[in-house]
Amino acid sequence: MAEAIEMLPNAIEIYDDRMRSLIRPGASLQKLTDGAVHSEGPVYCREDDSIVWSDDHGNRLLRWSASDGLSVLRDPSDYQNGNDHDLEGRLVSCSSGLRAIIRQEYNGQWQVLCDRYQGKRLNSPNDLIVKRDGTIWFTDPPYGITEPNQGYGGEQEQPGSYVYRFDPATGEIDAVITDMLRPNGLAFNPDEQLLYVSDSSAFDLSEGYHHVRIYEVVEGQNAINGRVFAVIDPGQPDGLSIDEHGNVFISSEDSVQVYAPDGTHLGKILVPETVANLTFGGKNRDRLIIAAGHSLYTIGLNTYRMQ
Ligand code: MG
Repeated sequence: MAEAIEMLPNAIEIYDDRMRSLIRPGASLQKLTDGAVHSEGPVYCREDDSIVWSDDHGNRLLRWSASDGLSVLRDPSDYQNGNDHDLEGRLVSCSSGLRAIIRQEYNGQWQVLCDRYQGKRLNSPNDLIVKRDGTIWFTDPPYGITEPNQGYGGEQEQPGSYVYRFDPATGEIDAVITDMLRPNGLAFNPDEQLLYVSDSSAFDLSEGYHHVRIYEVVEGQNAINGRVFAVIDPGQPDGLSIDEHGNVFISSEDSVQVYAPDGTHLGKILVPETVANLTFGGKNRDRLIIAAGHSLYTIGLNTYRMQ
């Protein structure tokens, strides 16, 4: 763990000068709202400048905007967790309760897109990202089976916890990563040649990990040559997100931890609750939106996420 070279009044620890250029001058962490049992899976909705996110332990889907405040979109939500938009702007989500990937159609109804691999039920999809070709890449740890507050329980049918590539255009599903214990959050770098996946297995396995792995994406369809990119302390990494330069923003127990593409630990944005997930948002995609504990937080950045 690097020593902080500077502790700013707004609780940003800087280990490398590159961190300084990523935070908007004078920006400080702001709490937007609370009221969730456990905040997860934030996604920014540009059309109405709102944030939709999951209260996964509360089994609800929530919405917040500056003009409307907090509202409940789904109750129960079947333990919805990670959320993203597809290429047509529809919400696509991991349902740990239904053990499925689901999508909200234009009429507002949610439909199951995929819930099986090789004829067996998925474990409990946790987080997902939509690639620019429209395919949905998602992680499938068993927490919706093993943790009473993250799903409806049941039997695990898959032999492991994999990362899948699902093509909603064809219905095809492939296991693209099979060598992780508990794949959890995931994100592509800007040119989608690299895939980062957190392994949170230290949460429930005594021999488990608390690191982020990096894979090379081959022909847009497969992920190979996995290796450890960063070991995250304290706690375990959960969701992560990547900016236009390829800097990796990773959730941890005490903060959002920022790593350069070369693996240098740049710094931390300290958050007073345990960080579960994060995304970029705001009109210019230059705000970090952080789901932590019962709450949503935000801080202004000097960088943004490419669409
Ligand atoms: Mg997660």
